[in-house]
Amino acid sequence: MKKEAFLDYEDRHLAALYEKMPILAVKGKGASLWDYEGKEYVDCMGAYGVAIVGHCHPKIVEAIKRQAERLITCHASIYNDIRAEFLEKLTRLAPTLPRVFLSNSGAEAVECAIKLARKHTGRKDIVAMMGGYHGKTFGALSVTWNPRYREPFEPLLQGIRFVPYGNLDRAREAITSETAAVIAEPIQGESGVIIPPPEFLKGMKEICKEKGALLILDEVQTGFGRTGRLWAWEHFEAEPDIMCLAKGIAGGIPMGATLAREEVMASLAKGDHSSTFGGNPLACAAASAVIDVVLGEGLPRRAKELGDFFRDGLKTLQSHYSVVRDVRGMGLMLAMDLRFPVKDVLLGALEKGALLLYSGRTTLRFLPPLVIEKHQIEKVLGILEGLLQREQEKMEKRKV
Ligand SMILES: *Cc1c(COP(=O)(O)O)cnc(C)c1O
Repeated sequence: MKKEAFLDYEDRHLAALYEKMPILAVKGKGASLWDYEGKEYVDCMGAYGVAIVGHCHPKIVEAIKRQAERLITCHASIYNDIRAEFLEKLTRLAPTLPRVFLSNSGAEAVECAIKLARKHTGRKDIVAMMGGYHGKTFGALSVTWNPRYREPFEPLLQGIRFVPYGNLDRAREAITSETAAVIAEPIQGESGVIIPPPEFLKGMKEICKEKGALLILDEVQTGFGRTGRLWAWEHFEAEPDIMCLAKGIAGGIPMGATLAREEVMASLAKGDHSSTFGGNPLACAAASAVIDVVLGEGLPRRAKELGDFFRDGLKTLQSHYSVVRDVRGMGLMLAMDLRFPVKDVLLGALEKGALLLYSGRTTLRFLPPLVIEKHQIEKVLGILEGLLQREQEKMEKRKV
């Protein structure tokens, strides 16, 4: 079949909700993707940050194969060996949050966190962050900032208040004796890799404690080493009461997880919440292997080292090309603001063999697998250099 026929099927039948890249991906390995015609790309999109351990990591593939031959489905009302082992491993990585609800996506992990906070505190209000992103189901959408996502679907949850991300004084005003929880990303992802001031999360944790509210940290994008530490909150010494995980947790198999303190999760009674697929053995086998790979290959440290190298390279580009407005990020969660829409750069990069991601109209985002090789980063920097030079020349021509 011709490439165009596949694109046509998707265009005609998949709900037209996504800004499509003109690439038909068929194979992946590490930080490389191949299209239908066999062309190789360095993948800095990483399936929106899902591909933490890279594409088709042999240990993940092996775990999935082995489990697929033993047992694919098993409801959480029945015990399962692989699920049990996975839970034990996962909670060892967050010892103060030993209770886990397993679901299938980031939004679901957030839904559980919101219900949990309301039930545990008996309060209704939630304080959320401007610029925050938590998913698009009704509960998660209600605490997501972008009005373009929210307004067409109102009415949403009642009692949500948004405060400027990073502004502790405004957070202090908003958190009251009616507040069930504060929800935040430790580093904002969708709004373009926004790092809060160093004392912000710790300060919010203290205010929450004072007011009897819970701190929910959404580590869906930042978790599992992405930012150079296993959990991004470790950079800020602000351990949450509830933590949401998803994206890379199961190596690309759908999974979400809501981790909570023992007495917090104890407020949900039998039947208060559930998920048919949650805790699925195939996903648990993959997730268990992901933990082995993340720890075994020292991926958080690797993300720090390669992230510093990548960011330095981007900063050098910034110093050479005035079309670059800003470069920032932590670990392998990086962003570059341009002075013009990024669309041509995205498409140009694709043509040259680099798959990049965007955040809004003028920001490039980089969420490569943590197993990316240095020479692959160098290749991406080289491609970007060529494209920035082209854009710079275009801009200077317009000026004269
Ligand atoms: C992607 C993301 C979500 C939503 O995850 P889905 O699996 O798309 O529902 C929630 N929170 C954060 C921080 C995310 O980056």
